[in-house]
Amino acid sequence: MATIEITQLRKEFGDGDEQIVAVEDVDLTIEDGEFMVFVGPSGCGKTTTLRCIAGLEDITDGTIEFDDDDVTDQRARERDVAMVFQNYALYPHMSVRKNIGFPLRLSTKQSTDEINEEVKDVAEMLGIEELLGDKPKELSGGQQQRVALGRAIIRDPEVFLMDEPLSNLDAKLRSKMRTELQELQKDLGVTTAYVTHDQTEAMAMGDRIAILNNGRLQQVGTANEVYREPTNEFVAGFIGSPSINLFTAEVDGATLTGPGGFRYELDDTSPVADRDEVRVGIRPEDMQLVEDGSVPSVVTVVENMGNENFLYSEMGEINLTTRVDSKMNPREGADVEFHFDEEDLYLFDLRTEQAIKTK
Ligand code: ADP
Ligand code: MG
Repeated sequence: MATIEITQLRKEFGDGDEQIVAVEDVDLTIEDGEFMVFVGPSGCGKTTTLRCIAGLEDITDGTIEFDDDDVTDQRARERDVAMVFQNYALYPHMSVRKNIGFPLRLSTKQSTDEINEEVKDVAEMLGIEELLGDKPKELSGGQQQRVALGRAIIRDPEVFLMDEPLSNLDAKLRSKMRTELQELQKDLGVTTAYVTHDQTEAMAMGDRIAILNNGRLQQVGTANEVYREPTNEFVAGFIGSPSINLFTAEVDGATLTGPGGFRYELDDTSPVADRDEVRVGIRPEDMQLVEDGSVPSVVTVVENMGNENFLYSEMGEINLTTRVDSKMNPREGADVEFHFDEEDLYLFDLRTEQAIKTK
């Protein structure tokens, strides 16, 4: 087991004029036994960060330590890490038994019998002991992913690194594997860095979540923290499904006015004091449909989700999404109004996009 300490990590690709800064200024500690999920949009630097931890990239600047051991200059095979990729990377000509046992055959002097015994234990843990004689192409996607996991587990590493390992699975299997993987990680207690572009998956799986954008770490925290106390507008917009509603409002004393007749009286003006304008954020579930509210809008679509409805509407130029009771079924084109509590209001600085008020 290991604590991973990343300090001022920077990774550039290319040379001369065509320099791409993939990751910069990343400071992060992943605690011993922690499940840390890296999440962010495509191209934000998730895979690069993981590959730097693995030792698969020469980093441009910064240090990486495992338990106070500086591994920055160590190559991948010198670091005690096991990786699992999206495409599984199984050896097609080898049986499941050989695929799982491969790292041991490479690195230990154990006899074939001893290795096969360990393979059997790992396969049982993953529920694939019946498949040991099969070749990868005979397996389903979910089974192949288990084999790839088995190959990582059998190495008994200090660190697991997983890059979108569930993205090739269908939705139902993916959600089942999320739970299994989490349980497995907790049972084994291996420090894990896990990459996904899916914020729902990140929220469901991570002990903590590290949110990246444009190569920079935006925030690190528990699901609850990043949801309720986003540090900036990007995090507020990225975390949560459906997304938070965001628009610009003008400030006049205690009154906020915005697009399409939005008008809200603040009790506490301190967050907006000295401001002319502010970015307003309201989560879809924090808006209630009422007779007389501060958010007037025109219904465009009602999506029935069974236990609740997603109501899409327009407030001037702004598209709003709200989650309402499934009995609330206003027709398309209807004028509706919403209310929200001041404590549910998020406010962001127009220029810096930093949060000035969260929940
Ligand atoms: P993510 O995994 O979040 O989608 P990546 O870490 O793969 O993002 O990529 C981050 C940025 O670095 C992107 O702009 C990508 O094009 C660039 N990049 C990644 N790998 C290389 C490489 N080997 N050579 C050049 N640019 C790269
Ligand atoms: Mg990637």
